Amino acid sequence: MVSSVTEKTRDWLKIRDDFPILNSVDARGQRLAFLDSAASSQKPESVIAAVDCYYRETNANIHRGVYDLSERATAQYEAARHMVADFVNAASAREIVFVRNTTEAINLVAQTWGRRNIAAGDLIVVTTMDHHSNLVPWQLLADEKGARIEAVRITDDGRLDMSHLGELLAMGPQLVAFPHVSNSLGTINPAAEIVRMAHDAGAVTVVDGAQSVPHMPVDVRELDTDFLAFSGHKMLGPMGSGALYGKLALLEDMPPFMGGGGMIRKVSIERSTFADVPARFEAGTPSVADAVGLGAAVEYLQQIGMAEVGEHEHNLTQLAVERLQGIPELRLYGPEKPGLRGGTLSFTLGDIHPHDVAAILNEENVAVRAGHHCCQPLMDRLGLVATTRASFYVYNDEDDVDRLVSGLRRAQAIFAA
Ligand code: PMP
Repeated sequence: MVSSVTEKTRDWLKIRDDFPILNSVDARGQRLAFLDSAASSQKPESVIAAVDCYYRETNANIHRGVYDLSERATAQYEAARHMVADFVNAASAREIVFVRNTTEAINLVAQTWGRRNIAAGDLIVVTTMDHHSNLVPWQLLADEKGARIEAVRITDDGRLDMSHLGELLAMGPQLVAFPHVSNSLGTINPAAEIVRMAHDAGAVTVVDGAQSVPHMPVDVRELDTDFLAFSGHKMLGPMGSGALYGKLALLEDMPPFMGGGGMIRKVSIERSTFADVPARFEAGTPSVADAVGLGAAVEYLQQIGMAEVGEHEHNLTQLAVERLQGIPELRLYGPEKPGLRGGTLSFTLGDIHPHDVAAILNEENVAVRAGHHCCQPLMDRLGLVATTRASFYVYNDEDDVDRLVSGLRRAQAIFAA
């Protein structure tokens, strides 16, 4: 309801002040309406300060030094791991592997668990709405092993076709990989139910949490997924930060991803034995400052509360949907029912090219994304080449929605002239 959004945004306006970039204005004095958080989020002062402070006061290589500075750096890195584990309610911090992003997390699973467990003729199930990051790693693996890939179809309103999922599961796949929330359609998939169905069929699950972990409470023990991949940079953390959650028993049974320093127990010229989990998967010097920054991001989000984050985005999305539906010729993709969608809205505006829409919005200092959003199979299914996408996060407010709507009306007026 519009009134409750207004109530909410009154408090939420203060959050915006924590983000230095959002307090900038363009050459025309317009403030930035940043509506591209699904690609990467902005960073609050506390995260910037954590990274800055790390380099000023703590910087040293970790896990090797016997001097104070190195021990402090190690302690901060491991403390960040505990914070991330707590954030997704992992049973142990050892179940969290630091990676650069969701893409790396999924490739890690494909190249380690996948190479060991997928054989010729095996079936990997993905979905039509997956990001390329949750498709291409499985294609590479399937090509190498001679495995097959099938994708769960979607309904016309952008939900997974659960009966088709059932049909694919009846074929006995080894792996089911799917997005918790679609980065193009905003669809929130029934992740716990899909995991349960996949497990009943004997499959291992990989949940792409790139668009869920930053935006809603995600509890890996409730989901019961075997793996969950997410990007720190989409959840207020530094670029180059991300994590893979994996059930400890599975991680312990997996060979290393990359070889090098930090991931070994004993090395001879001919062969090596490997460190325990998670060090086994973190070869070389990690991005310590970025992990520390991710810890600060988690702390910031926990101070707000993830349920509140979800509710704020839900309210803004509802408001935006109402307003966008009032624009003639605007076609919104994804589920109509508000409870089924997160804070990402993909749309087309008549036959104006999405890139032109985004360029006109940019003139108003409204930042949105246009393109296939790394979801070409989904675009093919929708019969589209591209959409314009607006996505919300903690720092967005009603004014951003107004700016989006008036920019879209201006785009229509320009193209009608
Ligand atoms: N999966 C989804 C659903 C995403 O939205 C994204 C980022 N657009 C990715 C995977 C890849 O994330 P990253 O680029 O951080 O690896």
